[in-house]
Amino acid sequence: MTDALFAPASRLADQRLPALLEQCAALHAHLCPRQVLGVRMGLLGGRLLGLEVPQTDKRLLAFVETDGCAADGVAVATGCTVGHRTLRVIDYGKVAVTLVDSRTERAFRIAPSPHSRALALTYAPDARSRWHAQLFAYQIMPDDELLVAQPVTLRVSLEALLSKPGRRVTCEVCGEEIINEREVVHEGTVLCRACAGERYYDPSP
Ligand SMILES: [Zn+2]
Ligand SMILES: [Zn+2]
Repeated sequence: MTDALFAPASRLADQRLPALLEQCAALHAHLCPRQVLGVRMGLLGGRLLGLEVPQTDKRLLAFVETDGCAADGVAVATGCTVGHRTLRVIDYGKVAVTLVDSRTERAFRIAPSPHSRALALTYAPDARSRWHAQLFAYQIMPDDELLVAQPVTLRVSLEALLSKPGRRVTCEVCGEEIINEREVVHEGTVLCRACAGERYYDPSP
């Protein structure tokens, strides 16, 4: 019966998986199929772009399309993190990521193949649950059965996204500091996005 969390080394799609999955599970306090998907997507992205991952610089950028387990997998595999400003969550509620080489602007969007769930069962027919089958199979399935990758062109400007480091202004309404050129200038007044009306919260009475 297949109920081990880690697939045997001889069957792994990538020998880097155990170390990365352990790192991810530690972040997460558990290991789950979506973390494996995230790690696999990150590794494939690195390979497609010809960049070594996990990166030690900030060349690779990741746009993950949901928060949660898969995002942690992508972060661990690629070295892209929110803290390094190399990981953005575009919340579509989808397990998918676009990985971008910021130097060349080449980009690939990677998502699980529509058949990956069904195929997983054939890779672990005696698993004790679908969850265990996925966890196991996602570690051993070849990339072309597990994932689909499509070259894409970003519709957002990397220059605007990354902005000028060190730039800093003050909101003329709330007085808070705004970095990374995220201010809005309205009729000559410098405003933060909250004061410009995009606030996601209301002060409690
Ligand atoms: Zn999880
Ligand atoms: Zn403000």
